[in-house]
Order: sequence, then structure tokens, then C-alpha cells
Amino acid sequence: MNAPEPHLSALSPADTYEQVSRASNDIAGRLAARLRRHTQGEVLFTAADRGRYATDASMYQVMPVGVFLPRYAHEVPEAMAICRDLGVPIMPRGGGTSQCGQTVGAGLVIDHSKHLRSLLHLDLAQRCAEVQPGLVLDQLNRQLKPHGLWFAVDVSTGAQATLGGMAGNNSCGSRSIAYGNMVHNVLGLTAWQSDGALLQLGAYQHSSGRARELGDFVKHLADGLGGEIALHWPKLLRRVAGYNLDIFCNQSERPYTSDGSVNLAHLLVGSEGTLGMTQSISLKLSELPGARVLGVVNFPSFHRAMETAQHIVKLGEGSLTAVELVDRTMLALSLQNPAFAATIRQALIGTPEAILLVEFAGTNKNDLKLKLRQLAALMGDLGLPGSVVELTDELSQKKLWDVRKAGLNIMMSLKGDGKPVSFIEDCAVPLEHLAQYTDQLSEVFKRHGTRGTWYAHASVGTLHVRPILDMRRQGASQMRRIAEEASALVRKYRGAYSGEHGDGLCRGEWIQWQFGPKINQAFTAIKQHLDPLNLLSPQRIVNPPAMDERSLMRYGPAYKVIPIQTALDWRAWDVQNNPLTEEISSPGTGGDPAQGFAKAVDMCNNNSTCRNFDAGTMCPSYRVTRDEQHLTRGRANTLRLALSGQLDDQGLASPALMEAMDLCVSCKGCRRDCPTGVDMARMKIETLHQYKSRHGYTLRDRLIAYLPLYAPFAARFSGLLNLRNRLPVLARWAELLTGLSARRSWPTWQVQHFFNQGPAGVSAQDLLRAEKPLVLFVDTFNGYFESGNARAAFRVLSAAGYSIHLAAKAGRSSSAGGRHLCCGRTFLSQGLVDQARKQAGELINALLPFAQRGIPIVGLEPSCLLTLRDEALVMGLGEAAQTVAAEAVLLEEFLAREAKAGRLLGLSSKLRPAQKPILVHGHCHQKAFGLMPDLLEVIRLIPGAEPELIDSSCCGMAGSFGYEAAHERVSMDMAELSLLPALRARPEALWVADGTSCRHQIRQASVRPAIHVAQLLSEHLRD
Ligand SMILES: Cc1cc2nc3c(=O)[nH]c(=O)nc-3n(C[C@H](O)[C@H](O)[C@H](O)COP(=O)(O)OP(=O)(O)OC[C@H]3O[C@@H](n4cnc5c(N)ncnc54)[C@H](O)[C@@H]3O)c2cc1C
Ligand code: SF4
Ligand code: SF4
Repeated sequence: MNAPEPHLSALSPADTYEQVSRASNDIAGRLAARLRRHTQGEVLFTAADRGRYATDASMYQVMPVGVFLPRYAHEVPEAMAICRDLGVPIMPRGGGTSQCGQTVGAGLVIDHSKHLRSLLHLDLAQRCAEVQPGLVLDQLNRQLKPHGLWFAVDVSTGAQATLGGMAGNNSCGSRSIAYGNMVHNVLGLTAWQSDGALLQLGAYQHSSGRARELGDFVKHLADGLGGEIALHWPKLLRRVAGYNLDIFCNQSERPYTSDGSVNLAHLLVGSEGTLGMTQSISLKLSELPGARVLGVVNFPSFHRAMETAQHIVKLGEGSLTAVELVDRTMLALSLQNPAFAATIRQALIGTPEAILLVEFAGTNKNDLKLKLRQLAALMGDLGLPGSVVELTDELSQKKLWDVRKAGLNIMMSLKGDGKPVSFIEDCAVPLEHLAQYTDQLSEVFKRHGTRGTWYAHASVGTLHVRPILDMRRQGASQMRRIAEEASALVRKYRGAYSGEHGDGLCRGEWIQWQFGPKINQAFTAIKQHLDPLNLLSPQRIVNPPAMDERSLMRYGPAYKVIPIQTALDWRAWDVQNNPLTEEISSPGTGGDPAQGFAKAVDMCNNNSTCRNFDAGTMCPSYRVTRDEQHLTRGRANTLRLALSGQLDDQGLASPALMEAMDLCVSCKGCRRDCPTGVDMARMKIETLHQYKSRHGYTLRDRLIAYLPLYAPFAARFSGLLNLRNRLPVLARWAELLTGLSARRSWPTWQVQHFFNQGPAGVSAQDLLRAEKPLVLFVDTFNGYFESGNARAAFRVLSAAGYSIHLAAKAGRSSSAGGRHLCCGRTFLSQGLVDQARKQAGELINALLPFAQRGIPIVGLEPSCLLTLRDEALVMGLGEAAQTVAAEAVLLEEFLAREAKAGRLLGLSSKLRPAQKPILVHGHCHQKAFGLMPDLLEVIRLIPGAEPELIDSSCCGMAGSFGYEAAHERVSMDMAELSLLPALRARPEALWVADGTSCRHQIRQASVRPAIHVAQLLSEHLRD
């Protein structure tokens, strides 16, 4: 039992956030101590931890008292008991992807997503599953797929959203027209009440005890309010505001249960953590459709698209599963995005103003194709013949859905302080009014000097739209005025103000507006019945604050950025935008005291795409730790707090910030995968620079950073230095001295390396006269440690007929005594930006004369060569850096380009056929720059080669990261996520990895070497 502690009287509904925060300062220590004493859960109470949980995907920020991550289910009621005793409010949380501020509050945040995420029970016969609240939707569906089943509430955040959070918000998927909302798919629920009782909620008719009492209580309320409910309750599928008082008198277009019975679990669905803490949820599963087809209808005007939706939904005889809108702005943004352009282009006929994605699903594809024909015929009847693009294969449909799902994030990539803000973005109106509603709301935006982009669920009248507002300035008052006019439109068309994303802090005040005072009183009565102590998510749904209460906002009145002098050039982010035209001002004009760095950090809107486990690279450190601290979002939030003086008084020199950066492997996964382009690898360089400039550099930092400079001398003492790998005592001593793990072998020094025993290459003068010229940039790693790769590249390129000049310091041939050039990567990795600038500057100067003549600069090591195309452009190296970057290519990029141009026929004919299967692991930076297709193309030059790409994130070595004793475990965990299991499963294959550190990780962990693509090609060259 928990020992009683001095009692803080329970909060009254009138308590404000400030009062709660002040009180919480006194009791936070005791709360943390008791949680630590009585549970094995994670107790996070530092300023940085609290700051990371102070926001979700909304505009709000409220500091919690602390954060608790229960390790076991029974620790939840224990933590609740302690909170009850101390009078601390409780904020339940899943993935924290809510858009209305549901999860932020001045209490104890209980995060279920890390440990409480099991599929508890699967009943295939009954098609139902019981899950813990922290299980993520996509992970559930992965387990269901082999059984031909899925949980069909397919929210766009399926890779991050937890079932507990989805139930909390009554979430709705793109296919809700076919499957309904969360409330239609929950069969039962167990939840802890704030007084410690466990509620078991299911069918009312079979209920007993507390559940029965609750059912009777709510029934009594509903019976007494029949007229009010009939009058005020929106008669739509998409209504998620308030509590589901209508379980006893269904008002939804779709009954909550298939037999019309009452299920008490539905009362807690959509209650946003205010009534009980969900312990488990029973879910209705659906059969995975055997086939799907997609018709993309192209419209000459947005209005026509909106008018037509009501006719389209009548098609399909039950097989119609979605009608989703993408408007002109989003089409244009998608066409500008290299990841989406090709996909969107194939769906367009000319330049439509809007498209509707119309999906049919069923068992037989041929039957579904008939539906597409019906769709085309309907469009013909409506005066739009030939407007439908048919997508019948799975891959192109999936790709188009991915573009649609990325919609919000595509919009959010707008630079500047004006951002698309979520507050009226899921109002639902009956389909017959959709066209007028959207027209009139667009007029409202215009009157208020802004505009919005429309997209999403046309099938159910819920169109997402976010006007662009500057929440640091006049945005909050503009928001209120727009909200008031929007609500008048919703009322005029008898719609629902909150149709998908819930109430939270943003829409709470609109509940009474929507339902009237009597129903609002009934909601208060339900809250008091279930949570008389008002401990659970206070001021949500009942007694909410004003939506535009600025003290609750992320960019509140006191928000200011501390001035800093940055080492890298962040001016591209230091801009403002015009909300009407979305034009961006010129770099450096945004008024950021942190020279653009703060605005780059602010690009993170907490949408949480980085909390995914499968797609892409982002974020390996989160995938192995599941810690908010070690997540791109957590890092961006910590940076934002540091840059605005909210973390401590040390700004970017804060140790707490460094801790958040510690496990970032600088893989650049976020650079590519984060929809708003948060580039944490680059931010880490700036942060390291700022931090270490104040706190100093360690011996290890310098040992790693200066490697390219001392390598020529160290190589002469190879024999001596390599003893470290052979004598364990030396390795242990080295670990004590440097912190580099004794269990890791270091790269082997070579007396004869590429720079003193390599081929000479042609002179600069000869190169300029050559027919097929190129410059080979051999980096430190392939030059000194694995010179076989550099020789192999030289051999392959020579065989292909190229004249090769070796990049070397001014006037010297690289083979003449190790005067090799360095891109500055190792310096950047330690935050030594000035030294990196010096190295990169020297390299750029040496390469410039060739680049100016359009001669390709070919490199082997992804992280080195791509530094020229990335960081070198923001180190103040001027136009020369741009010119060199334009010609800098990786070997595989160069060969793929040449092959496409028909200039590699000679090489192909010299290659022997492949004898073994080939498995490829991509270096993170190769992936971040989208170069994997080129690598596969080049391998296919080998006759019969069918390279297979391993679906892997970071290998975990990441430069020096995995060598450090403190990171060894995490490094291996990253490798074990998918890379090593995939390799072990294919011992017969050749393994290809272009990254030096990837090869080291593979060799050390599996005892089998992987090879660079240059080696692969060279080995296949006929003699
Ligand atoms: C880019 C983007 C796209 C989105 N697309 C959609 C969409 O297509 N459809 C849609 O409906 N929503 C969408 N959302 C909103 C959000 O993703 C969903 O509401 C999601 O289901 C929330 O899940 P979560 O795990 O993040 O929950 P959280 O945000 O962590 O929590 C949601 C609510 O549930 C409560 N809660 C969490 N766990 C418990 C528990 N154990 N007991 C009691 N209460 C609990 C919380 O207190 C909170 O009130 C989107 C959000 C973003 C940022
Ligand atoms: S880092 Fe990117 S993906 Fe992650 S929450 Fe921020 S914006 Fe979203
Ligand atoms: S660079 Fe890699 S490890 Fe670092 S935050 Fe981005 S995805 Fe995560």
C-alpha cells in the first residue's frame, strides 16, 4: 500500500491551470518519490521531460507536473491512487497526436505507448480482439493480416496512433463511410475510475454493479432530454463532440451497434480521458477486402467536386469505401515534392482544380472494375465525361493513398511564422450543403486576410481545412473571429462543429454552443458521476477554457527566442510568408534572433510521423528506445524549449539538450522522412557546436574529428596502432582513455594505402582534354583503411573508358605522399564547424576548376561525398560550394546516369554474370538523398543480377557512434532491428553496403564482410 502523505485538496472545476501549476511545484517531488517507490515504471520529472510532454499536435503547450510510463498494467491504478492522494490531475496519453490539446495539462501525464501495448486476446471465430491502450493501430493490423482481418478505423496517423488514444478521441478513418468511427467498432472496454474502481463496460442489458448503475444514470439523463437531443444533436456520422449521451437514442447516421442495442463502452469512447483510464479495449475486426480499385475523378472547379460528392456516395451498393478530396493547392505542392510528383501526375488529366479519390472494395477485382465504369458513366451524366483515371493495381493505389494521407504534412511544410492552424478543420456538414459551405468558408478566410487548403473526407462531409495564421502575433484573435463565422455556417447547414479530431482545449467551449445548456449540464453530470474528484483531464469537455486563451499556447505572449550566433547558415528558414499568396520573403528577413535556427526548429509541428516503426529510416533511436527523449519530435521540442529559454538558463549549452541529442545517429532519416523537413542531423551539428564551444571538447571528440589530418602519419605506424585490435589489454586501456569500446575492433591501418600506393590517374591538364573525364574524390576511410574499394572504383571506371583525375591538394597528385583532401565530415560530427569549413573549403577549391567545366566529381563514401551537397552549402563557402555540389555524385549515381545515357555499353559487356544472390543495405545518407534506386540499377548492370534491398533503418554504427562504449548497446539494438536478421537469413548471398561504418557493423556483428559496390563490380570484371 502507498503510505499516506500530506493531502492537497482535490481540485475544483474552477481551478485554473496556473493554480494547478503552482500547487504542483510543491508536490511534484513527493509525487515522483512515491511513484518511484511503489512502481517499476519510468518516472520523468526533469524540466526537459516535462517540456517534451507539454505539447501534442495542437497549438497548445501546458507544462505537466511530471510524466509516468507504467511498465505493467497494475501500475496505472497505483499511480492514480498516488495522484488521488496528492490531488494531482491525471492526463492519459497514447501517441500524443491529438490536434486539439487533449493530452496536455498541468497534471501527471501517464503515457501508455511504451510498455502497455499488447494484443491481449484474439478471437478469430468472433472476429474480435482485446488490446492494451498503448498498442499502435498499424502494429495491431500487422498481427491481424495473416488471419485476413484488420481493424478498419484507418486514421492517417495509423503508424503512431494508439488504440487507447483512438478510443479517447472517437477517431475516424478515411473509410468511415464503410466501417464507421471508433464508436462503431468498440465492443467493450475496461477502465479505471479516479476513485480506484475498475469499470467493465459492455452491453447495457447484461451489465451489473457499477456499470449498471452508470447505464441507469445515463439512461435517466437521456430520457429526460429526449426533446433537446432530437433538436440539437447533429444527425451525422461525423460528430465526435461531447459525450455519447445518444447511446440510448441513437442520433448518428449509422447506429452504434449492429442490433441497435446499447453498449456502455461507447460512453467512454470520445470522452478524451475525462471519465476513466482505459485498461483494455475489445475491438470489432473486419475482413480484409480481397480487392480494391480506385477511380480518380478530375474536376475543372472545386465547386463541382463538392457538388458531386453527394451523387458519388450513392454508387457501389455497399462496396464504396472512400471518397477523398485533394485540392489544387495540395496537388501543386505534391507535384513539387520529389517523393510524390510521379504518383500524383499519373492520377491527373490536364490541370484539374480538384480530384476526388473514389475507392471500391470487395472480393473480386473484376466486379469492382464494373463499379469504376459506373463511376465514369455517372460523371458523364453529370457533364464530365472522360474525367476518371482508373487505378486498379495495388501499388499505384497505395502510393496515391500515401500522398493523400501526407496531405496535412505537405501543407505544414510552409516556412515562416504563419502556419496552417487546426481549429475548424473537421467540421462536418450534410453532403447536399458541402459546396455552399466550402464556398462560404473560403470567403470567410478571405475576409480575414488568409486562405485554406481543402482535403480529405468528402464522403462524410468532413473536409479538412486550416487557415494560415501567425499565432505569435494576431493569430489568436483572428482564429476566434474565423471560428465564430465558421460556426454560424455549421449551424446554418445543421452540421457538427467537431467531426473528427475531438474537443480538447480547442473546441471545448463550443460544446455548449452545439448542444445547448441542458445537454451540457447532462455532460457535467456524467463527469461528476464518473470522476467526482475531477482528477481526470480536468477542463476538457466539461468546464473548458477559451480556445484562444494565449497562456495555454505554445507561442504564448511570453514566447521569445534567445539571440544566438549560429555556426551554420540557417537563413533559408528565417523568412515570413504571405498567408494569401503563400509567397516567402527572401532568406534572412524573418526576424529570428537565432538567425533562422529557431524557425527551422519550429518546423516541427509535433505531427509525430517520426514515431513510426516501419517505413523509411526515421527515427532509429526511437525505434530501439521508444523514448520521447530519443525521438525527432522530442529533440525538436527540447531544442525549441532551449532556444526560447524554457528549458533552463543555459540555452543551447544546456546538458539536458545534449542528452536529448546523444542517441541521434545523424542518419538524416528525418531530413527525408519528416514531412515538414526537420533536419535533426544538421541541427545536431549546430547544437554540438554551441554546446562544446562552451563546455570544451574531449580527447575522444578530437581523436575522431582530426582523423583525416593525422591519418597520413598514423598510417606509417600501422603495425603499432593495429596492436590495439590484437591485445585486449590495449583495447581496455584505450577505452579508459577515449571512451571507445574495447569490444569493438577499430578500422585497420594499412602501410600501403591508396594515397601512397594507388594508381596515379591523369593530370589536370590531360583531364581537360579527355573525351570522358571525371575526378575521383577518395575519402579518408576508403583511402587509408579500405583502399581496395578505391582501387576497385578506379579499375571499374577505367574499364568503362573514363579518364580519371584523382582529387588532391593544390598542385599535388594524391598518390604523391598522402596529400588527400577531406570533406570535413568528421569535424562536423563533433561540432567543430570552423575546422570543417576549413577542410571543406580546401576540397571545394581543389574541385572548383573541374566543376566549373562540368566535369563530374565522383565519390565513394556516401557520408563524405554527400557532405558536398548538404552541409557544405550552409558553411559560408559561397557560390563555389554550389558549383561543386552540382557536379558531386556518388559512384552509383554516376554509373546509373551514364548507363541511362547509353555510355556504359562497354562496361556491361565486360562484366561476368552474377553467381550469387545479392543483398543490399543502404547507407542512411544514400537513402536520405533517394539514391537507392541508382545503386540497384548499377548492380543490375551485372548480367543476371537481381539485387534485393533490405528494408532496414540505420545500421547503428553511424560514424563513430557505435564505437563509443556508451552507445554500443543501442548501436547493436539498431542493427538487430532488421538489418542483421535479414543478413543472417541469407548467408548464401553477397552482401553489399556502401557505407564504411555499415560494413564495420556488419562484419563485427556477423563475422561476414559486406562489400562496396565498387568491389562488387570490380570482382565481376572479366580479366
Ligand atoms: C497528421 C495528423 C493526421 C491525423 N489524422 C487523423 C485521422 O485521419 N482521423 C482521426 O480521427 N484523427 C486523426 N488525427 C488525430 C489523432 O491522430 C487521432 O485522434 C489519434 O487517434 C490519437 O491517437 P494517440 O495515440 O496519438 O492519442 P493521444 O493523442 O495520445 O490521446 C488521445 C486522447 O485519448 C486519451 N487517452 C489516451 N490513452 C488513454 C487511456 N489509456 N485511457 C483514457 N484515455 C486515454 C487522451 O487523454 C486524449 O484525450 C490526426 C492527427 C495528425 C497529427
Ligand atoms: S520531427 Fe517531423 S515527423 Fe517528427 S513530429 Fe516533428 S514534424 Fe513531425
Ligand atoms: S538524424 Fe536520424 S537519429 Fe537523428 S533525429 Fe533524425 S532520424 Fe532520428
